[in-house]
Amino acid sequence: MKKPTRVNHPPRVDVPADNQPVVAPIYQTVKFEFETVDETLRHLRGERPGFFYTRTSNPTLRQLELLLAELQGRDDCLVTASGVSAVTQTLLALTKQGDHVLCFVETYNPTRYVIRRLLGRFGVTHTMLSIEDVAGMERVLSSTKTRLVLFESPTNPVTKIADIPAITGLARKYNALTVLDNTFAGLHQHGEFDIDVYVHSLTKYASGAGDVMGGAVIARSDIIRTMRTDFGVIGNVLDPHAAFLILRGLKTYFVRYKAQSESAQRIAELLAAHPAVARVHYPGLPSHPQHALARAQMKDFGGIVTFDLKGGAEAAKRFVEALKLFALTASLGSTESLVVAPQMMAVRDLTPEQQRMSAITEGTVRLSIGLEDPDDLIEDVTRALEAAGGQ
Ligand SMILES: *Cc1c(COP(=O)(O)O)cnc(C)c1O
Repeated sequence: MKKPTRVNHPPRVDVPADNQPVVAPIYQTVKFEFETVDETLRHLRGERPGFFYTRTSNPTLRQLELLLAELQGRDDCLVTASGVSAVTQTLLALTKQGDHVLCFVETYNPTRYVIRRLLGRFGVTHTMLSIEDVAGMERVLSSTKTRLVLFESPTNPVTKIADIPAITGLARKYNALTVLDNTFAGLHQHGEFDIDVYVHSLTKYASGAGDVMGGAVIARSDIIRTMRTDFGVIGNVLDPHAAFLILRGLKTYFVRYKAQSESAQRIAELLAAHPAVARVHYPGLPSHPQHALARAQMKDFGGIVTFDLKGGAEAAKRFVEALKLFALTASLGSTESLVVAPQMMAVRDLTPEQQRMSAITEGTVRLSIGLEDPDDLIEDVTRALEAAGGQ
């Protein structure tokens, strides 16, 4: 064999079955081969295990899928290249022309876009309510045959809590599927509820380090089976190296989520006691209007603390720019703290009435609490509140 041939067919190294790596290797390969045409065909017909093409499956992706399914308490999962691709592909796979979707004003902006603009182009209609309007949900579900209800809890950015048993109860009664974007609450929460499909952005708490994007759809295997082919041909596949990084991030997921929730609680309490602050939105505060519901549904209240400054837009600008330890940027759930200014929370696609429902004001600031020492974060926030000024 000449050397140009050899570099394309390097020596194989087999690891003995009784000598396994502690951390699984990254299967950074697109293709897998069988020895014969017949075995290849048996595999493609689903008659034997194995792998063929990474867009359809890959051992590193499969390891991540099995772990995520178990964490959320369901039996199967599909991973995708980002959180929005998990949402979009789920909606495309579960709806068809003429279907109706129930969604909410407090939903993540790109998800609203997908339902209103993208699905709308393909003849899927929707109704958008406030997540607090349970009576409205019953009115819509009882009068309009609805394919699915898509919602979030806590909502972004003002951490409203969805009444999950009420929503799943109504959806069952009227034969609609429930899709919960569970990114904020995380993989260890809400698994006990009668939810059909969970979607997650793995970009946030799951990976934690803020250096990789990913998404996941988690459900019973019969639901995943109906979506698998659509996902394969849409082709928004997660890269095996990204899956490896997310698997590594998940090793510290539980300690991170707990520590971030504890620091967030302290910062929420500090903000609630400060004269420059009009209102704090954190489910762990007794003053949160749905604190009892949050306590009944959640174990940890998460790392997102949102609050309204009395001084409005200008005070908010001064506050976010005075912070030293919080990066002024999008996203959440990473080890470094982050902040979003009200000017960055565009809700231009909503009517004035819907904007009122969204509860975002000119002085609304969203903090994502990281893993810095909480005393340092408190010092930074206190100093920035002073810089923001009073009224
Ligand atoms: C960030 C986010 C998404 C989108 O995830 P990406 O990984 O950024 O594509 C979807 N839903 C919620 C609730 C999010 O916070």
